[in-house]
Amino acid sequence: MNVAYDRRTSRSSRAERPQFEVSFEFFPPKSDAMEERFWESIGRLAPLRPRFVSVTYGAGGSTRERTLRMVSRIKAESGVDAAAHLTCVGATRADVDAVVRGYRDAGISRIVALRGDPPEGVGQPFTPHPEGYRNAAELVAGIRAIGDFDISVAAYPEKHPQSPHWEGEIDNLKRKIDAGASRAITQMFFDNSDYFRFVERARKAGISAPIVPGIQPIHSFTQISAFAARCGASIPRWLAERFEGLEDAPETHALVASAVAAEQVLELVDAGITEFHFYTLNRANLVLALARLLGVRPD
Ligand code: FAD
Repeated sequence: MNVAYDRRTSRSSRAERPQFEVSFEFFPPKSDAMEERFWESIGRLAPLRPRFVSVTYGAGGSTRERTLRMVSRIKAESGVDAAAHLTCVGATRADVDAVVRGYRDAGISRIVALRGDPPEGVGQPFTPHPEGYRNAAELVAGIRAIGDFDISVAAYPEKHPQSPHWEGEIDNLKRKIDAGASRAITQMFFDNSDYFRFVERARKAGISAPIVPGIQPIHSFTQISAFAARCGASIPRWLAERFEGLEDAPETHALVASAVAAEQVLELVDAGITEFHFYTLNRANLVLALARLLGVRPD
């Protein structure tokens, strides 16, 4: 028998395994039908007592009111802590600060602070608003000046598409943490070795804050590959091959998706990772199954 295999954390009993912390990311629904699914998913995931549920902020502040409405209602109705995303692209500092005060006044104490993408697309150069925050590190400092928020920032295991080199990438993350962020949440990645290498680089640079892996279950391979291409996350060949030819086979696609996500999460568990951020795309099923594999169950 292989002894190391026998000692995998993911195979230990619930009493012996570490306490896992999870958070769930949602986007503000655009229609009544989508809003129904949003609340249904929140209703199923909230009993897992996540550290927080976060709601994204649409490009250029397009979801400003909806993000605030959703986080306020999540907190009030489900009892779980809610985090509001915030970007500074295309806005003055005064405008962004007003949103931060709005969050504070609504009792929201967690913010995921981001620069945001240029309106022309992620591949285009970013031009800050002349009176705006120029990047996420400046935004974090601005938020800190307004209130005592718990701030998360973004990290990129495969490098942000606009970072010319790793040194700049890691320096940027360090600036965000030094400005007052408590943790980094990663962009989606599908090859865990990218994440491990990234964490090693960050630790060598003196970053000690948690770097929480952002896990993207593949509800639709076509949709996720397009999204990954836009944000600079690569799809390994082996992964593409697993989904090849499943466009019209939804049941097999769903089973493969859950096997792929389970494999990724359990490998991270066996490497000692205890915190996970799940990109839910407002769906509960796959994420519920993954949480169960961690031993995270409703109260
Ligand atoms: P920054 O950390 O500011 O970095 C962006 C780039 O600029 C990097 O290449 C960095 O190295 C470079 N840079 C920064 N400062 C300097 C400097 N002083 N000198 C030189 N180079 C510099 N987008 C949304 O629109 N809404 C959301 O709700 C949202 N949520 C997200 C959640 C997570 C967990 C993640 C990972 C991403 C999210 N995004 C969201 C996407 C994000 O807005 C984009 O990836 C954006 O392109 C970069 O944002 P950032 O906060 O990482 O920027």
